Amino acid sequence: MSKKHHINENWGFATKAVHVGSDPCPRTGALATPIYQTSTFVFESAEQGGRRFAGEEEGYIYTRLGNPTQRALEMKIASLEGADDAIIAGSGMAAVSGIFFSVVKQGDHVISANSIYGCTHAFLSHMLPNYGITTSFVNTTELENIKNAIQENTRVIYIETPANPTMALTDIKGVVAIAKKYNITVVMDNTFASPYLQNPLSMGVDIVLHSATKYINGHGDVIAGIIAGNQEFIDHCRGTAIKDIGGIPSPFDCYLMLRGLKTLPLRVQKSTENAQKIAEYLENHPKIDRVYYPGLPSHPQHELAKKQMRGFGGMLSFELKGGIEAGKIVMNSVEVCKLAVSLGDVDTLIQHPASMTHSVIPREDRLKGGITDGLVRISAGIEDVEDIIADLEQALAKIK
Ligand SMILES: *Cc1c(COP(=O)(O)O)cnc(C)c1O
Repeated sequence: MSKKHHINENWGFATKAVHVGSDPCPRTGALATPIYQTSTFVFESAEQGGRRFAGEEEGYIYTRLGNPTQRALEMKIASLEGADDAIIAGSGMAAVSGIFFSVVKQGDHVISANSIYGCTHAFLSHMLPNYGITTSFVNTTELENIKNAIQENTRVIYIETPANPTMALTDIKGVVAIAKKYNITVVMDNTFASPYLQNPLSMGVDIVLHSATKYINGHGDVIAGIIAGNQEFIDHCRGTAIKDIGGIPSPFDCYLMLRGLKTLPLRVQKSTENAQKIAEYLENHPKIDRVYYPGLPSHPQHELAKKQMRGFGGMLSFELKGGIEAGKIVMNSVEVCKLAVSLGDVDTLIQHPASMTHSVIPREDRLKGGITDGLVRISAGIEDVEDIIADLEQALAKIK
């Protein structure tokens, strides 16, 4: 299934985003990649079916094992992440679980950043122990903590940068240097930055994943995930966790992502510009205590962000002085900003974890995870930034 499309390695990111994987259909000349909405593919003969299953002949068999619309997207994303190859999974969590089930086995140990996506944390702390795999959660903003957690059986270091909720960064090259010494695999969730702002594989990370639901698709209408890495790992993962657990996307969703990816550079540029302006506005607001955005000189890792990212991204968070009540007032007053979880959409999304996503978690536990009473998160969209700021201004004015 490695049908080669026209790729020029010297192309810039935006050219790759538009053209890689998107050769015109050889039969009809169609420019847009067709949606091959089919579960199965007809063989010309029993012999051909045999050769396809034996891997002696290129070609499709059954959509869980591969599909042309999905393949076009895999080639585009691999080229944007600088990977040998990539797999599209049915969700970001299918990517997370697919990676772990193809890398770790009973008796292995994982070191994970403590500040990671909630469901990934649940997977590592509740599901993997059932299979004899344990995880130590550490604050990876200090590399010393990773070194101290290494055991004989440590197989994976798992990081996410920038991370929820304080947009804390982990030094990617620093983690890789430690891992290489001990022959440990580094897996990184690159969802918040998108491939446009950060390419972990080029910094020595072994496997990268995305929730493609976010910036990759970008339009709030698909759930999907990405796994990218070297050919040996991708072939192994495709032939085991993806084939036999089966978390794959539909061809139609792949088509939507192919379309969404063409504008990834434009969307990320605009949401980054907007986030910077929103962060600067909020930092000077009297009802706000702190703003967390890697693009502000006040961010403790502003210098590291400049080193390992090509831009500071569209995600920011801030602390309201007025706590829970102030948070609810802002949530119930915004009009342009949409009150919703998820991120990386063309629409600006806002949420208040203490009253929403984390409201059922005991306050003590919530605070330990950095989710304070007045913490609000914004995923900047691509609207006119004046309208987003005016919206926040009128909502903040309602706090007495
Ligand atoms: C959303 C998200 C995920 C999970 O992805 P789904 O597509 O919702 O399954 C994983 N990691 C991060 C950082 C996310 O934001």
